[in-house]
Amino acid sequence: MTAAVRTQVAIVGAGPAGLVLSHLLAEAGIASIIIDRRSREEIESTIRAGILEQGTIDLLASIEGSRAHTVGLRHDGIELRFDGAGHRIDFAGLAGRSVWLFPQHEALRDLLAARIGAGQDIRFGVTATTVEDASGTLPRVVAVDDAGTGLEIAADFVVGADGSHSVVRRAISGSHDGYFREYPFGWFGILCEAPPSADELIYSNSPDGFALISQRSPTVQRMYFQCAPDADADAMSDAQIWDALQARVPGHALIEGPIFQRDVLRFRSFVARTLRAGRLAIVGDAAHTVPPTGAKGMNLAVADVFLLSRALEGLLLRSDERPLDGWAEAALDRIWKAQHFSWWMTSMLHVAPDATDFDRHRQLGELRTVVGSEAGRTYLAEGYTGWPLG
Ligand SMILES: Cc1cc2nc3c(=O)[nH]c(=O)nc-3n(C[C@H](O)[C@H](O)[C@H](O)COP(=O)(O)OP(=O)(O)OC[C@H]3O[C@@H](n4cnc5c(N)ncnc54)[C@H](O)[C@@H]3O)c2cc1C
Repeated sequence: MTAAVRTQVAIVGAGPAGLVLSHLLAEAGIASIIIDRRSREEIESTIRAGILEQGTIDLLASIEGSRAHTVGLRHDGIELRFDGAGHRIDFAGLAGRSVWLFPQHEALRDLLAARIGAGQDIRFGVTATTVEDASGTLPRVVAVDDAGTGLEIAADFVVGADGSHSVVRRAISGSHDGYFREYPFGWFGILCEAPPSADELIYSNSPDGFALISQRSPTVQRMYFQCAPDADADAMSDAQIWDALQARVPGHALIEGPIFQRDVLRFRSFVARTLRAGRLAIVGDAAHTVPPTGAKGMNLAVADVFLLSRALEGLLLRSDERPLDGWAEAALDRIWKAQHFSWWMTSMLHVAPDATDFDRHRQLGELRTVVGSEAGRTYLAEGYTGWPLG
């Protein structure tokens, strides 16, 4: 048994990209159907991003019922540490913008409540398997639900917001074709019960490697330290983890507490060679991946769909294909800026396993250059807080 439905825009994936896109389309009067292979509970409980740019938070806060400004916490700067000393980067003073600590799963809770409240057709536990008639004017998403029942969605346009293993990307480029870089390290991440160790996030470079002292809430903290990409998250005791973290933030004592989650995150950079073909496009992690040092992944996903919604308004409301023809180039402009920023923060702050004494002294010279000049600090502040949407 296969059910067939028809809509204007079929969206595969109810992550930040898919949900924000459906909201923007609905505001413009364009109908969409979203499918996601996960349940609503799974989507709402997966802990991922935390740092959101000013433009992202402004967009989220404009959606009815958003808790972006109540649950979210504004951060006006970060501390960059190296050589045992801390240096504040004053985002508000240098770039006139801030970032917000608003956990991704809280943002998704708000988005799902808003979309479902507005009557959005959204189907959980439904997995897309292929896109048929991909080169025509009525492509079809072929999917199956958890009970094995088939679903086909015929649409004027299909958007792949289906994350890094995107099915829609395969229909666009015929493969996982793109620009790719793997890094020789990853992050060992923990969630712990403790008060914050500092008012703002600490990005620390040390001879032992990098650490990020981030936050989740007044009682739960997120911390990461540089590790081998194939490190086993269960191989270290809690005491060893705290020793590793304390050693990577010399001169600043971290407040320790019970660790209740640990994971290892691999570092990759990826940009798909083709973002759009005919009536198909990919957005968010389906189109690109960044290492997490620059906190750009979810922000880029929102920026992609902000631009795409304007282009789809042209196509579907005014029969004007020109904005769509320019969409990929406009999106790629920001994507590559974010790729560069994420790569730059990563290479400036991590210690490569094969780093020589020269590399290490050069790196400290770079860090001193950045914090020692207003131009250097402003460059970091502008990239971290993000460029205006659109
Ligand atoms: C530990 C960690 C920390 C991070 N921190 C930050 C940060 O501070 N700031 C930031 O901006 N970004 C951060 N990121 C990145 C951010 O989480 C991602 O970039 C973001 O989730 C991308 O959103 P998306 O909607 O494109 O994809 P996803 O969130 O991956 O959503 C894709 C959705 O598609 C669904 N799906 C996949 N395949 C199918 C299919 N075949 N059929 C149906 N549904 C499907 C999935 O179930 C999923 O719900 C972090 C990531 C991690 C892992």
